[in-house]
Amino acid sequence: MARMKVATVWFGGCSGCHMSFLDLDEFLIDLAAQVDIVYSPVADVKEYPSHVDICLIEGAVANDEHVELAHLIRQNTDIIIAFGDCAVTGNVTAMRNPLGTIEPILQKVYVEAATLHGRIPFEKGIVPQLLDRVLPLHQVIEVDAYLPGCPPPAERIKAVLVKALSGEPLTLEGSDLKPG
Ligand code: SF4
Repeated sequence: MARMKVATVWFGGCSGCHMSFLDLDEFLIDLAAQVDIVYSPVADVKEYPSHVDICLIEGAVANDEHVELAHLIRQNTDIIIAFGDCAVTGNVTAMRNPLGTIEPILQKVYVEAATLHGRIPFEKGIVPQLLDRVLPLHQVIEVDAYLPGCPPPAERIKAVLVKALSGEPLTLEGSDLKPG
């Protein structure tokens, strides 16, 4: 049987969800025997592969690169899991939303708070352009399952992965995969 291809992605989040993933400890060894990690911040692969079975996406959608990659992931992935509260609801990353559009925030951070040569980094194609509003993942692409928590505990990550690897459907009905 072909080995399952698994990806993990880091959007607008603190990496705490990935840290919780690494807390799986010895289960990571079992996992490595069954799957190929084909794209992940911990695997240093530059291009998202053309076919992935499961992708866990940590973090909210906060800039134009996230939007582009989210659509690429959707086109090339069977099961997408919103991984953690920032992906599920926006959570901490979306705390800037009530402040309004992004310009006043950039002004405050890069110009008013600068000690020398304050300038907003606007080089398109070099610096990702922040969205005016941070979005939960499901507002950008279709999501197949939700794994809430800040971060989701390692045991729940394990339970979801075991379920997915066994071929059980990750349905929202009657599972703990609903948004929190
Ligand atoms: Fe960090 Fe919590 Fe957001 Fe995960 S859900 S990226 S742990 S703030």
